[in-house]
Amino acid sequence: MSDIFRLDGKLALVTGSSQGIGHALLSGLAAQGAIPVVNNRNAERTAAAVKAFEEQGIKAYAAPFDVTDKHAVEDGINAIEETVGPIEILINNAGIQYRSPLEDFPEEQWHRLLDTNITGVFLTAQAVARHMIKRGSGKIINICSVQSELARPGIAPYTATKGAVRNLTRGMCTDWAKYGLQINGIAPGYFKTPLNQALVDNPEFSAWLENRTPARRWGNVEELVGAAVFLASPASSFVNGHVLAVDGGITVSV
Ligand code: NAP
Repeated sequence: MSDIFRLDGKLALVTGSSQGIGHALLSGLAAQGAIPVVNNRNAERTAAAVKAFEEQGIKAYAAPFDVTDKHAVEDGINAIEETVGPIEILINNAGIQYRSPLEDFPEEQWHRLLDTNITGVFLTAQAVARHMIKRGSGKIINICSVQSELARPGIAPYTATKGAVRNLTRGMCTDWAKYGLQINGIAPGYFKTPLNQALVDNPEFSAWLENRTPARRWGNVEELVGAAVFLASPASSFVNGHVLAVDGGITVSV
């Protein structure tokens, strides 16, 4: 039983893993023996994250590409598969936020959000799943959100994308579980990352959040690792299409 959470030698690609939640998740998988593949759009930041892993004695690889660019996604994933090895774990984490009252929401920001938060998940999962399907196994974890279930003022388009990621997770399971793939989601509550800097800097929001969350606090990104290790490891071998909330109880309480 003690080995069911181990990930030794498994190649793990996490999109958007040069900082924030993605970086914490990739580090957590590496601590269980996985080989990290770092992705974001900026090759210098990707290389810096790889260097930081290697300074800890962990062999890591860089795969800088923009998840919204179909050809870049396919080229990046095929290059890893051909030159490094099979991607056995994929976490679709790259995501963006934009805040504005819905009646004034700029159309170009609507398209940016959909392109990154939902089309990026589709393109990356499809490119990796094609390899996983041939092998008859693979773990895909899609990063959803409290906003997969609940809306908040000023972020309606983000809410739409995260609801879509939740249901795309179910659709991927429905289409790909028969090939031996497992596709699940993690729905984080509120974590202090650059994406949330405007909220972190707002004492009124922090007070509201701490009061609204049954656990009475923000989450620490390291607290998402357990869920990712579970869903990436043999421990979850019959879990499929599930979205696991890691949110201090905020989505079960009014
Ligand atoms: P973050 O700190 O802003 O990090 C986002 C990462 O995604 C960065 O590494 C960024 O790197 C990368 N990225 C953005 N667009 C990309 C693209 N088109 N292609 C490749 N990489 C891209 O955000 P975070 O807070 O860690 O959020 C990570 C995920 O968790 C997101 O999906 C977010 O919606 C979700 N989430 C966050 C929270 C929270 O409380 N923070 C709560 C629920 C859900 P570059 O900009 O260098 O490309």
